[in-house]
Amino acid sequence: MSEAQEKMTRPIPAPAVSIETKPFWDAAAQGRFLIGRCQDCAKAYWYPRAICPHCFSGRTVLEESPGEGVIYTYSVMHRSPSGPYAIGYVTLNEGPAVLTNFVDVAPDGLAIGMKVKVRFQATEGGPPVPVFAPV
Ligand SMILES: [Zn+2]
Repeated sequence: MSEAQEKMTRPIPAPAVSIETKPFWDAAAQGRFLIGRCQDCAKAYWYPRAICPHCFSGRTVLEESPGEGVIYTYSVMHRSPSGPYAIGYVTLNEGPAVLTNFVDVAPDGLAIGMKVKVRFQATEGGPPVPVFAPV
């Protein structure tokens, strides 16, 4: 199989889990993707955190997202010990941009504006992390 057709995956290290991010990772372990939502300005945001990045309110909640969006930009790394991989930003339908890995797609199979959806990839010794694949 040539590199152009091989679907990309790569090992992802376990994320650091803190008291602030534990609810997000607990949901991820159940296959649920959570984003932040401010109760004062009503804006959604990523990554989840206690303080709203738009208005600095502390009245925030985590809400479940379908994890659907489009590729804003991406970059394919061809030289890697584990084979080619791609990272980039996804603009979620709710608005926020997510820095992520793209999986289950060939290196030449990505395009800006392509529809993608979240899935979770196992890590070694930690919770699964959100990654995105074309729908
Ligand atoms: Zn806010």
